[in-house]
Amino acid sequence: MDLKDKIQVYEDFPKDGISFKDINSLILNPRAFQYVIDEMTKVAKALDANLVAIPEARGYIFGTPLAYLIGAGLVPVRKPGKLPGEVSSVAYDLEYGSNIVEIQKNAIKPGDRAIVVDDLLATGGTLMATTRLIEKLGGEIAGIITLIELTELGGRDLLKDYFVHSIVTYP
Ligand code: 5GP
Repeated sequence: MDLKDKIQVYEDFPKDGISFKDINSLILNPRAFQYVIDEMTKVAKALDANLVAIPEARGYIFGTPLAYLIGAGLVPVRKPGKLPGEVSSVAYDLEYGSNIVEIQKNAIKPGDRAIVVDDLLATGGTLMATTRLIEKLGGEIAGIITLIELTELGGRDLLKDYFVHSIVTYP
């Protein structure tokens, strides 16, 4: 299936110079959405994971059905101040701006194997921060799955220690 014609591209959003890939036009199309989840599931099944970690907000869209289909638990990865109890935090730079991600400390136990799922890999900052959070708490990274990869931003190099699978690539 050609997914690129389902992903609408907005130039200069949210800032000048950014070519924003809008996944909302893809998930509006039920067949395209099913296709993406099916493709992610095939890859995820081979990774022997018991958890799926999902950066908010767009990681939730793909990671939640994936976790259901492979029988894994979900670990929300959130912006600061959203999670109750003890949290672990990592700060990182984004393609545009900077951010902090947090997870609850009790979400990860030593020996857990997590797949991290997000909509898009750009510089890799979000995914790298997420892998650090999981590893800090004794978990292992089974792999990383994204719908879109922007290859020229070098995220795959930053994440070279991990298995990384993307469904659609753009330069
Ligand atoms: P990175 O941390 O790899 O530089 O950026 C990836 C994060 O930024 C992802 O969580 C993703 O949701 C968001 N992001 C950056 N650029 C885009 C884009 O063009 N389209 C979408 N949908 N998300 C983007």
